[in-house]
Amino acid sequence: MTQQESAAHQDLAGVETRLLVGGEWRDAEDGATFEVLDPADGSVLARVADAGTGEALEALDAAAAAQAEWAATAPRKRGELLRAAYEAVNARADEFARVISLEMGKPLAEARGEVVYGNEFLRWFSEEAVRVHGRWMENPAGGSRMLTMKKPVGPCFFITPWNFPLAMGTRKIGPALAAGCTVVVKPASQTPLTMLLLAQVLQEVGVPPGVVNVVTTTSSREVGEALMGDERLRKVSFTGSTPVGRGLVKQSAEHLQRVSMELGGNAPFVVFADADLDAAVDGAMVAKMRNMGEACTAANRFLVHADVADEFAARLAERMGSLTVGRGQDEGVDVGPLIDEDAVSSVSQLVTDAVHGGAKVLTGGTPPEGAGWFYPPTVLLDVPDGAEITREEIFGPVAPITRFTEEEEAVRAANSSEYGLVAYVWTRDLARSLRVSEALEFGMVGLNTGIVSNAAAPFGGVKASGFGREGGFEGIEEYLDTTYVAIPL
Ligand code: NAP
Repeated sequence: MTQQESAAHQDLAGVETRLLVGGEWRDAEDGATFEVLDPADGSVLARVADAGTGEALEALDAAAAAQAEWAATAPRKRGELLRAAYEAVNARADEFARVISLEMGKPLAEARGEVVYGNEFLRWFSEEAVRVHGRWMENPAGGSRMLTMKKPVGPCFFITPWNFPLAMGTRKIGPALAAGCTVVVKPASQTPLTMLLLAQVLQEVGVPPGVVNVVTTTSSREVGEALMGDERLRKVSFTGSTPVGRGLVKQSAEHLQRVSMELGGNAPFVVFADADLDAAVDGAMVAKMRNMGEACTAANRFLVHADVADEFAARLAERMGSLTVGRGQDEGVDVGPLIDEDAVSSVSQLVTDAVHGGAKVLTGGTPPEGAGWFYPPTVLLDVPDGAEITREEIFGPVAPITRFTEEEEAVRAANSSEYGLVAYVWTRDLARSLRVSEALEFGMVGLNTGIVSNAAAPFGGVKASGFGREGGFEGIEEYLDTTYVAIPL
């Protein structure tokens, strides 16, 4: 075992690798496990229980059995448990950051950022738990009154991706628990350890057995079909790719489960000639390089006014070219490995295609030799219209730049995508900023900022980026049904 491997094993020594079903940690029925790999060198970090449909349905049994009591638990109590979980995660922030960094690859500083960001959803929804209310209203025609009341939708199934192993879980678990729903969580098979650690914390602070169940598996499709084929399940919340999301929406039709879909993005980053270029370059670094570009919110297409395109591109290339690529746990590393070999090939293929079409490489462009799944920060200028790299989610540290001259042209180009998650706009003109924000067909707009997400904001997309919102006042509504009572007076 290398020194690095033994340090990793030490960091992971306290992390559960079994399933959490009805408050008990248990192995898969047949003892099956799967490997979690370190993306920095492909070594095995841990072996985790590989559940089949039987264990998944037992997890749903546990969630269904706990549902009524959890829904009847006082909102203040539910909120306080979430708050206690928030405090416990805070107290163990370094441990969470190391686990995230090890299994996902991101640099430790970014992993710490994810802990702060992801944990905020527990705090925010601990506060929202006591603010669920209905209304009392006079019928407009007079003569009767209308009462509405909110109730938890019931047992939920959560499927999360590998790119934010903590935050993608807390964004769902926080509001669900606050609303009074029980849950079965299926984390991504490439990064299950963070979710298992979170489940340990939830259990330790006193979340009752069966309220949160965690099923790790490599049989995601079968487990999804089994759970969604069960009428006791009332809600599915998925964060991941658009094709998988489409399939899940179809599956939800059988029992008409409520669905929230946080899917792919293809964010335009529009820089007008009057933009503060220093701020725009800083914003581009965050919007592009957060999570090595492996974020649904990552700037995917840079549309820059022709008057400033060369300068913007040169400054961005200088900043991108000066980043240090390496193992996420090493000092001074800015950019970690991508999640796996397929990710590197897919990014390489998009870059090669753009370069064949005439794009100029200002920095990066060639993956390094050797172990691990690394790709260098890359800037491409004058990417041809319609290049695949501007249509597909890159999910890597590559910034493709194209030029525009008219505002309408920029808005049209920005909107010409099946996705509609987030757009970034840089301008100092107030009227333009509002006009363009309104014209953009996206769920979120970053106006002179490269970062939009926080627990108090309604995060989510339109079009092929899905529907439903996580965070904000809207987030808890995804887990509430409305009952209306008609009252003649
Ligand atoms: P993915 O392949 O769709 O996987 C996401 C999750 O779905 C994983 O847990 C995966 O399990 C599971 N899964 C795959 N096929 C399934 C099926 N047929 N039935 C049930 N579950 C299934 O996506 P990814 O590559 O992990 O994540 C990247 C994508 O997520 C990108 O498109 C990104 O934009 C999107 N994303 C969106 C948001 C947002 O809020 N809009 C946030 C983050 C990421 P396995 O791990 O076992 O394959």
